[in-house]
Amino acid sequence: MFFADFGAPMKTLFQPDYLYSAGRVQAGAGLLVDDQGKIVRVVPSEEFNRSSISTDTEVVALRGKALLPGFVNVHSHAFQRLVRGRTESRRTGGPDFWSWRAAMYHAAASLSPEQMYHVARVAFLEMALAGTTTVGEFHYVHRTPEGKPYPDANAMAHPIVSAAESVGIRICLLRAAYRRAGYGLPPDPGQSRFLESTEEFLANVSELHRQYHSSNAWVGVAPHSVRAVPMDAIEPIAAWAREHHSPLHMHVSEQPAEITACQSEYGATPVRLLAQHGLLDHRFTAVHAIHLDREEMDLLAENTANICACPTTERNLGDGIFPARAVMERGIPVAFGSDSQAQIEPLEDARELEYHLRLQHRQRSVLDGIDGQELSARLLRCATVNGANALGCDAGEMQPGQLADFFTADMNDVSIVGWGIEDLLSTIVFGMRTAAVTDVCVGGKFTVRDHHHPQQQEILRQYQEVARKVWSTPQLASK
Ligand SMILES: [Zn+2]
Repeated sequence: MFFADFGAPMKTLFQPDYLYSAGRVQAGAGLLVDDQGKIVRVVPSEEFNRSSISTDTEVVALRGKALLPGFVNVHSHAFQRLVRGRTESRRTGGPDFWSWRAAMYHAAASLSPEQMYHVARVAFLEMALAGTTTVGEFHYVHRTPEGKPYPDANAMAHPIVSAAESVGIRICLLRAAYRRAGYGLPPDPGQSRFLESTEEFLANVSELHRQYHSSNAWVGVAPHSVRAVPMDAIEPIAAWAREHHSPLHMHVSEQPAEITACQSEYGATPVRLLAQHGLLDHRFTAVHAIHLDREEMDLLAENTANICACPTTERNLGDGIFPARAVMERGIPVAFGSDSQAQIEPLEDARELEYHLRLQHRQRSVLDGIDGQELSARLLRCATVNGANALGCDAGEMQPGQLADFFTADMNDVSIVGWGIEDLLSTIVFGMRTAAVTDVCVGGKFTVRDHHHPQQQEILRQYQEVARKVWSTPQLASK
């Protein structure tokens, strides 16, 4: 991506001490990557001698490191990075989700496209430094602070894609539709930048799709929720997704109030409603899906839909506990998102999925052994392969033909030192801090090398200025 590639050889062989592929840790294996940034194959250790490595191959030794697939962050609202730490008292954040939302609306209220660029860059930088190689950005701030369309209706989307490109992370821009405050609710001034008619939305997302359709940046659609988008608008958006083979994401059943309102309006819960209208399929991802009954889980499973859990955000907002065991027993693929950016730590999301259940059931290893799958491998799969599938990205399994997106972990980092080969994966999944991530490669090119991102200082400085400005303006009155 941003690292120049002058006169590079045809192939690169990355040679770590350990490599995770096909569900197991292999000692001494290497990863052969072609000049298009795709995996040629995993090379077993016994093949490593001079005669078997051709002259058109550059060998990159990664001594003392383990190589793992890059994380996929399926659900991000980059601008909400501004809210981190600003709502952690009842005085500033109130007691629940709805009062937190008022602070979030304040962050969204005044951002210019340029400021959006700087905020997105800091969020994506933190993801990259944590080993994330792809992000799904659920983007709904479209209009000017006055609620008018920009001359280019995607003026707030372009800086987000540019931010991802400048940091070196793949992006699926999930352009979100937002039509109303909610069933029977009066307009909320905090939402004026989000609103578009269905016709405007479809024209704008089509234009965005025309501009971004590569493996580095592509487009999906996201009716915000059944609360914010009525059914007669969700249907044409879902039809657009089908026609363009694009991902279709929605917030679903995050809050009990959303379910009650949906039942009042349609006489059905959100998942039943979406199933009745034939909108659940393998391209559909339900974000959160916390408050599900068993029949709703069956519907998601039967229709091969995905779920994106956001455990670090859900615990921060007090949303509830995601019923991971019941969902996984039905074979529904679960991926992860950093959502509100309360934290950006992919493995913390993975652990929390399990830890919330331990506290709830007063048991250990609750998600272990479902379908015979070991717990750590399952959680890593959620953070990688399942995320890639939910975004329509061919990565995560370290298989031939897939994108060469990976990170390395320092085997001597204080958080994992003392590992044994049998327990290496669980030591990483349950113990590794993000600071142990040493290198990150996207398409076989380093975006982070030896903990260093070349633009880090500039990104932090620009972001600091934006944050200061946003929080020095008076808070918007909004409920
Ligand atoms: Zn969200």
